[in-house]
Amino acid sequence: MSKIQDTMFAEMQSKKIFKEAQKYGYQYINKSFNRNVYPTKKALKDLNVFDETLPEHNGDSSTIISLLHKYGSPATVSQIGGRYFGFVNGSVVPTGLAAKNLAIFWDQNTAMQVISPISSKLEMVVEKWLVNLFDLPKRTVAGFVSGTSAATFAGLAAARYRILKRLNWDINEDGLFNAPKLRIVTGKQAHSTVLKAISLLGFGKNNIEWVNTDNQGRIIVEDIPELDSKTILILQAGNVNSGSFDNFEKICEIAQQKKAWVHIDGAFGLWAAASKNLKHLTKGINLANSWAVDGHKTLNTPYDSGIVMCEDKEAIVSALHMTGSYIILGEERDGMFYTPEMSRRSRIVELWATIKYLGKSGMDEMILGLHNNAVYFAQEIDKIEGFKVLNNVVFNQILVRCKNDKVTEETIKKIQEDRTCWVGGATWDTKKVIRISVCSWATTKKDIDLSVTAFKNSLNKY
Ligand SMILES: *Cc1c(COP(=O)(O)O)cnc(C)c1O
Repeated sequence: MSKIQDTMFAEMQSKKIFKEAQKYGYQYINKSFNRNVYPTKKALKDLNVFDETLPEHNGDSSTIISLLHKYGSPATVSQIGGRYFGFVNGSVVPTGLAAKNLAIFWDQNTAMQVISPISSKLEMVVEKWLVNLFDLPKRTVAGFVSGTSAATFAGLAAARYRILKRLNWDINEDGLFNAPKLRIVTGKQAHSTVLKAISLLGFGKNNIEWVNTDNQGRIIVEDIPELDSKTILILQAGNVNSGSFDNFEKICEIAQQKKAWVHIDGAFGLWAAASKNLKHLTKGINLANSWAVDGHKTLNTPYDSGIVMCEDKEAIVSALHMTGSYIILGEERDGMFYTPEMSRRSRIVELWATIKYLGKSGMDEMILGLHNNAVYFAQEIDKIEGFKVLNNVVFNQILVRCKNDKVTEETIKKIQEDRTCWVGGATWDTKKVIRISVCSWATTKKDIDLSVTAFKNSLNKY
C-alpha cells in the first residue's frame, strides 16, 4: 500500500478532520445570523494567504481544514442569515442542510439509476411532488440541474428539438445549418440567462422579436407579434428586478391556439404557486410547455439546485440524449436524460428533504412570509424622506430610488460599507435603483428594522 493510501485510510477511520470541519461549521452557524453581512476589509485582504504555488507534497488535513475556516469563513457573505437582500439568494432550510451533510458522505453520481438507486428514487418522487405543487400536466417530467440557467437551456433545447422535428428536421443529426428558421419571441425584460441560452442554442440574439413591457416589467399582451408553430415564446414568473409576473393565462391561450412553444423562466417566482394567497400570480402556467425554477432561491435549499420541467418528455429526452456501449439503462429513471450533464452530484437529496420537511403548509407559510416581509420593508422605506419605492411589491422584490442617480448610487455604496445588510443596485426605467430581494426564511422584523435604519443612516450623510 502506498503512503498516501495509508494516510487516507487513517483519516477515514479516525474521523478527526470530519469532526473538526463540523465543529467549524457549527461555529459558523452560531455567528451567521448576527454578523456583518459582508466580509470586513481585513477579511478580504487576508484572502491573499491562499496565493500559493502548487504544493510539492501532501499536506496535513487538519491544517488544511483549519486554514479554510480561519480565512475562508470570515470572507464569506452571510447569506444564511436574515439581512442579505442582494440578488435573489435564499438562505438554507436546516433539514436540507443536514440532508446535504449526509449525502456528502454518500458522494453519489446521479447520472444513472444503476450508479445511484437512491438518487433515482428521490428524483422520481420529487418530480411528482412538483408537478402536483405547480398544477402542471400529469405527463410533465423534471430534470435536476445546477440552476435556472441550465434549466432554461434544457427547456429551450427541448423546444428546438420539437419544433424542428415537426418540420421534419432532426436537430441532433442535421444541426442548425440550413435548418428551417425558428422564431424567438420574448419580453424586453427577459433575464440575461435566457439570452445566454438563446446564444448557446444558436438562435442568435439578433433574431429575437422583442416585446414591449409595461412599467412593472410585464409583457404587453397587445404588443405580442402574431405567433405561429415555429415560435418559441419565453415568459417570466418573477421579474428579477420588480418581481412582476407575465399574464400567463391570456398569453398561453393565444400561444396554444397558434401551436407556439411557451417556456417560463420562473427562477424564483414559480414558487408563488405554493402559496394560497399568491397563487393567482401564476395562473395559467399549466398551459406552457417548459418551465425553469430554482430550489436555491425562494425555496431556500442549499446551492446549487435548479429544475427544468417539460410536458413533452420525448422532446426533452431527445434533446439531451446520449449513448455509449457502457451505458446501462435503468428500469425506471436515468437522471442524465433530463439534464445537459452526465455526472452530477445528488442535489435531489436536499430538495427532497426540504420539501418533505416543509410540506405544503410550511412552503405556503415560508413563501407568504417572504412576501409579507417585503411588503413591510417597502412600507418602512417609503416612510423615509428621500427614498421612494417604485414597484408594486407583488412578491419579494423591492425597487427603491433616491433623489437622483448619483445619490442612489452613493447610498448603495454607503449601505454596503455599513455591512448591517447587503443590497445591490440595478437600472430600472433608465434610472438607478436600490434593489432589495427578500428571500431568506431567517429574516425577522428586527432584521428589517435594523436594515431600514442602515438605509436611513446611509442617506443622511448627504
Ligand atoms: C436567478 C435567475 C436566473 C438564473 O438562475 P441561476 O439559478 O442563477 O442559474 C434566471 N432568471 C431569473 C428571473 C432569475 O432570478
